[in-house]
Amino acid sequence: MSNFSLLIDGKAHPGAGIFDVINPATGQAFAQCPRADSALLDKAVAAAKAAFPAWSRTPAEARAALVNALADALEQRSDEFARLLTSEQGKPLPQAQFELMASVGTLRTFAAMKIEPVTLRDDERGTVIEHRKALGVVAAITPWNFPVVLMMNKVGPALVAGNTMVIKPAPTTPLTSLLFGEICRELLPAGVINIICDENDLGGQLTSHPDVAKVAFTGSTATGRKVMQSAGDGIKRVTLELGGNDAAIVLDDVDVADAAAKVFHGAMLNAGQICVAIKRAYVPSSIYDQFCTELARMAEAMVVDDGARQGAEIGPVQNRAQYEKVKEFLADAAARGAVIAGGAALDRPGYFIAPTIVRDVDRDARIVREEQFGPVLPVLPYDDVDALIDEVNDSPYGLAGTVWGKDRQRATEIAMQIESGTVWVNQHLAIDPEIPFRGAKQSGLGAELGQAGLHEYTQAHIVNIAA
Ligand code: NAD
Repeated sequence: MSNFSLLIDGKAHPGAGIFDVINPATGQAFAQCPRADSALLDKAVAAAKAAFPAWSRTPAEARAALVNALADALEQRSDEFARLLTSEQGKPLPQAQFELMASVGTLRTFAAMKIEPVTLRDDERGTVIEHRKALGVVAAITPWNFPVVLMMNKVGPALVAGNTMVIKPAPTTPLTSLLFGEICRELLPAGVINIICDENDLGGQLTSHPDVAKVAFTGSTATGRKVMQSAGDGIKRVTLELGGNDAAIVLDDVDVADAAAKVFHGAMLNAGQICVAIKRAYVPSSIYDQFCTELARMAEAMVVDDGARQGAEIGPVQNRAQYEKVKEFLADAAARGAVIAGGAALDRPGYFIAPTIVRDVDRDARIVREEQFGPVLPVLPYDDVDALIDEVNDSPYGLAGTVWGKDRQRATEIAMQIESGTVWVNQHLAIDPEIPFRGAKQSGLGAELGQAGLHEYTQAHIVNIAA
C-alpha cells in the first residue's frame, strides 16, 4: 500500500485517520487514504487565509509562471498519474492518459490568460475603470468521474487570479488529488494550495466556513443544492457544475452508421459517467430500427474489462453505490422498454455493467427522465421535431445536448431551441478550456473555463473618478 498525505500549509500531513480506497475493477482495497477531521479542515483554511495576502500581491506573471510549472510537472509524471487514476477511478488507461493531457492543457490555457482593467468611460463626465481582484480562499470540491481535470478547471483560474485554495476530492477518488499535492508542495509557497480528504462528512463545514470566500463545486444537483444553501449565510460566491440529462437529437438526413457510432461513444465513454454524456437519444421513426440495430451491434462488440488491461474499452462503474443505482436503472429499462443489448451486471468481481441499449421505452420511465450516470442508453423514436424540442426541454436539467444532421443550418436552428448551457452540432464533448462551460436550469450556476470562468474567481471593482 502506498503512502499518501494530505497537504496543509505546505507540509505533508498524515491526517486524523485512514480509510480504504477501492479499485472498482476488483471491488478490493488497493490503497489507504488519510482523512481530515474538523480541526484539520480549520487548519487548512487558516493556512490558505494566511497565504492569501502575499500570493494575491505576487505579480500576475509570476503566478502564471508557477501555474505553468505545475503543468510541466504534471506532464512529466503523467504516466504515474494515469495509472493511479485508472486504479482509483476505473477508466481505461488511454482515457486516463487523455484526462492527464487535458489537465495539463487546462493549466497552460489559464496561465496564458490575462485579467486586464477595462476602461468603461473616459470622457468629459469622468473616468470609470473596472478592475478585478482576487476573492480570498476558494474551496474546490470535486466528484469522482474526472477527478484530475475537474480539479485543474478550478486550480488554473483560482491561482492565476490570485486566490488560495482548499481542495477536497470525492472520497472514492482521492489519491490523484493527493499526488498532485506532492507537486504543489515542491513548487508553490506554503498554504497556496491545501488538499484534504474526507468520507463525505466535511463538505458542509467547508462550504459554510466563514473564512472561505468562494465555493467552486462540481457534483450532483442534490449536493449542489446543499452547497448553495450552506454558502448562503456568508453570501459566498459559488459556481456549481451539476448533473444533466442531455439529449441527442438525430435528424433524418444523417448517415446512420456514422451518427450511431458517434452517439454511442457519446453515451458510453467513461462508462457513461460524464456530466455531459448522451443520456437519451431521439431518432426519427424512418431510421429508428436501423439506428437501434447499429447501437446494439456496437454495444455487444465493446470490450468491458479492467481499465488497466490493454484493449479495455469500457471499465467498471466507479463505486458500489453508483453500481447499485445503475442496476436499478437496468431494472427500470427492462420493465419499461425492450433491452436489445446488455441489460445486466457482469458476473465477475468489480462493478462492471454490460453496455446497454434499450428501445421502445416509455417516455416517462426513470431511465429517460433521470440521470443514469452509467453505460445504459434509452433510444426513443419521434416524428415531429417541433414537439420533440418541447419534450427534450421538459426537464429540470439543462447542461448540454447534441444535434446530428447533414444540413448544418437546420441542425443549428434546432440547437438554438434547446434549453441548455451548451449544444454541440455534429460533435460531442468538444470541451475546450478557452470556451466557457455552464449549466442552465438545475444543471448549474456560473461559468467554468474560458475568460468568463476566470472572472468567476474575481470580484469586479469599479473605480469612478470625477472629471
Ligand atoms: P456528489 O454530489 O455526490 O459529490 C461531489 C462532491 O461533493 C464530493 O467531493 C463529495 O464528497 C462532496 N460532498 C458531499 N456532500 C457534500 C456537502 N453536503 N457539501 C459539500 N460537498 C459535499 O457527486 P458525485 O456523485 O461525486 O458526481 C457525480 C455527479 O456530478 C453527477 O450528477 C454528474 O452529472 C455531476 N458532474 C457534473 C459536472 C459538470 O461540469 N456539470 C462534471 C462532472 C460531474
